[in-house]
Amino acid sequence: MGAAVESERCDNSVKNERARERYARRRATDACTDCGGPAHGACRCPECAKRSCERFAHFKSIPAWEPSYAVIELDTGTEHGPFDTEAEAAASLVFAKLSLDEVEFVSDAPITARVAGWT
Ligand SMILES: [Zn+2]
Repeated sequence: MGAAVESERCDNSVKNERARERYARRRATDACTDCGGPAHGACRCPECAKRSCERFAHFKSIPAWEPSYAVIELDTGTEHGPFDTEAEAAASLVFAKLSLDEVEFVSDAPITARVAGWT
């Protein structure tokens, strides 16, 4: 029994290790960490980056030339916003008693600007 648990834990750590290696290799070869395609210096290729952004579907209705901002609580997925400026989004953290470590800032700024910011 004890041995079975040991080996299971071992398999998981090997799997994680391989995932880390694949991630590191893709980063090293300038490949998308999601699909392995050309990432042009970013973590993800433009297609995967775009798909990742489109989780926030409501942003699609906001014109790209008027970026807005939102704050997502990492633990609960609760969204605050949208806000007109990053400063407003940051101020909302104070009201919600959240720290920067507990949230993710998102914006609907043009995709090229965001990809550059992620590297
Ligand atoms: Zn990709």
